[in-house]
Amino acid sequence: MLSVLMIVIDGLADETIPELGCTPLEWIAPRLRALNTLAERGLTGLIYPVAPGVPPSSDAGHLSLFGYDIVREYPGRGFFEALGAGIELRPGVIAFRTNLATVEERDGTLVVVDRRAGRISGEDARLLYEALNEALSEAGIPAKVLHTSEHRGVLVLEGEEFLGAVTDTDPHETGAPVLMCQPWDGLSGDMLKRAQNTAKVINEITKLAYRVLSRHEINERRMRRGLRPANVILIRGGGLAKRIESFRDKWGFRAAFVAGGALYKGIARALGMDEIKVKGATGTVNTNLPGKVDGALKALERGYDFVYLHIKATDSLSHDGRPREKAEFIARIDQALEPVLELEDTVVVVTSDHATSSLRGRHMGYPVPLLLWAPHVRRDDVKHFCERECARGGAGTLLGRDLMNLILDLADRATELGLRPHPREYRHLVLGAPLRLR
Ligand code: ZN
Ligand code: ZN
Repeated sequence: MLSVLMIVIDGLADETIPELGCTPLEWIAPRLRALNTLAERGLTGLIYPVAPGVPPSSDAGHLSLFGYDIVREYPGRGFFEALGAGIELRPGVIAFRTNLATVEERDGTLVVVDRRAGRISGEDARLLYEALNEALSEAGIPAKVLHTSEHRGVLVLEGEEFLGAVTDTDPHETGAPVLMCQPWDGLSGDMLKRAQNTAKVINEITKLAYRVLSRHEINERRMRRGLRPANVILIRGGGLAKRIESFRDKWGFRAAFVAGGALYKGIARALGMDEIKVKGATGTVNTNLPGKVDGALKALERGYDFVYLHIKATDSLSHDGRPREKAEFIARIDQALEPVLELEDTVVVVTSDHATSSLRGRHMGYPVPLLLWAPHVRRDDVKHFCERECARGGAGTLLGRDLMNLILDLADRATELGLRPHPREYRHLVLGAPLRLR
């Protein structure tokens, strides 16, 4: 049986960018070495992470690639973000993802100017989240916010009277007004009442955040320097708590992960994967790419038989409309992946959780490139790892939920359909003292 290294490059695929005449990955592909070598020696294809034309969020895309049913098993983004930030979600605690954002007051509404407040980061972001915490506790609201990275954070709400089944305040586009939080459709009875309580509190928190953050000295200083003020938090990703089967129970792997961003740590932790900590792994363009690859390879040496390695900044650069920088970052990933070429007895998988358009700054429902390498894998004649070439690949076009089966098969862990009763665990017949038959 082989081990597996699965590399997910976030938002890797893109659209045709007029100034490049192709996608950022296609543009840089002729200059890639490690990824092209793997493509040349391996099997490629395309994959719709969830379904054709469905632009997945990162967590939905990942769950689907890991073989989970996102309709039945998706607990909401806030749940993963909280786990990723190290918050243990006890019963009676619900969580949401937050963005520090820039809004402008127009006709009594708050219009979103920048959903990420110019990617505010570091001390400024942390202090603003802290200021909001003080205001929440002064107002007697049973909620807390926690800064994670850049503009990102988590909001937790504690109390049996709350339920996560509420809509986002984040309109997910600039130029649109901040939305009112409301209970999901189709709720009734006690669930509806708890969702109504939650929505009311979330709307209060949004107004409070605008009041407190607008006049905070950090924002006054930012505006003097021509930067965008982070004068509100946008709240999203509620959900209903659901039991998620562990990755080990589902697929039989002893899995570990390397990731910088809170969401990805949260997803992997929720599935029971062990964290490999890497110094300088930040989930930004400045992340320690060689260190992350090294951490993943060491985990394989240490006996983990499935290692998930996540790289984030390709997605962030697409959201920010920077296709050339995205391409350059892909080249840096490629350099860092050089040691992967030395692997033996391992299935190497490279793919993405969704396409992100550098033109439109949002996730798209396109298929993304897929690359599979194993010592014995059937080759196709694709030589460059990019959208256009992988479309000719020998694996064809798959859905995210097919990927784990393909991996199991290449890793010699699949069960031939109809032959063995149990796919994961084999018990050996033990020879010992002869049975005494009466
Ligand atoms: Zn993503
Ligand atoms: Zn994204």
